[in-house]
Amino acid sequence: MSLLSIQSIDARHGLLRAVNAVSFDCDQGDILALVGANGAGKTTLLRTIAGVHAPHSGHIVFDGVDVTGLRAAARVHLGIAMVPEGRRLFGSMTVEDNLRVAAIRARPGSWNLDTVLDAFPQLKPKLRSPAGQLSGGQQQAASIARALMTNPRVLLLDEISLGLSPIAVDQVYQSLQTLVATGTTIILVEQDLGRALKFSRRVMCMLEGSIPLQGNTGEVTREQILDAYFGLGRETVH
Ligand code: ATP
Repeated sequence: MSLLSIQSIDARHGLLRAVNAVSFDCDQGDILALVGANGAGKTTLLRTIAGVHAPHSGHIVFDGVDVTGLRAAARVHLGIAMVPEGRRLFGSMTVEDNLRVAAIRARPGSWNLDTVLDAFPQLKPKLRSPAGQLSGGQQQAASIARALMTNPRVLLLDEISLGLSPIAVDQVYQSLQTLVATGTTIILVEQDLGRALKFSRRVMCMLEGSIPLQGNTGEVTREQILDAYFGLGRETVH
């Protein structure tokens, strides 16, 4: 049985069908990159899995439990956490308080303030600083660290490199390797295709709410992905 099963999910904004009958499964430790053009439906799909956006139809089954009707907070408690695009930290609160607040809903597990700071050492000197005063890279690190404080089994990452310098992006991805080593399942939306393919083990390409192409990263070519990205091909690689 897979850890996370997305079953024929349809998610809408009013009359607009942003996610159209999407189905896929994730096992524990899967690292899945979700790529596609602006407006393809990636964020809506992540938000639907996190429970922030209610689907129109379909089911989300996590560890054998149908969580489709559960609120986001209940899903966090079960082990589904999301790092939203744009970080969304409490800017006037210190970094430490941002992290500790997240721990209130935590599942038991190996992540706590100490282990999170080991994974994101750049946050150590900033613990007492208001989160809003951090650089973009530090804020992104804090945002991921905050999600880790809940001890997720599935982590949803939305555009974590957006607006960051290449060095800051390198640092964030380096820290994510610690997470990979723990066997956490990761679904990430990443605009940088090269980085997405390097980091992930599976790639799914989204186009107008559907997934025309998915496969193991070693088995799909950049050309196939770009074709699917722009709607030039309709193939599935297994
Ligand atoms: P981006 O990379 O630009 O964030 P995306 O692939 O994440 O794109 P979504 O943000 O999920 O795509 O958007 C999918 C579709 O839903 C787009 O047509 C978008 O305009 C629309 N949409 C997204 N959020 C809303 C909203 N809150 N209200 C209305 N329409 C929305």
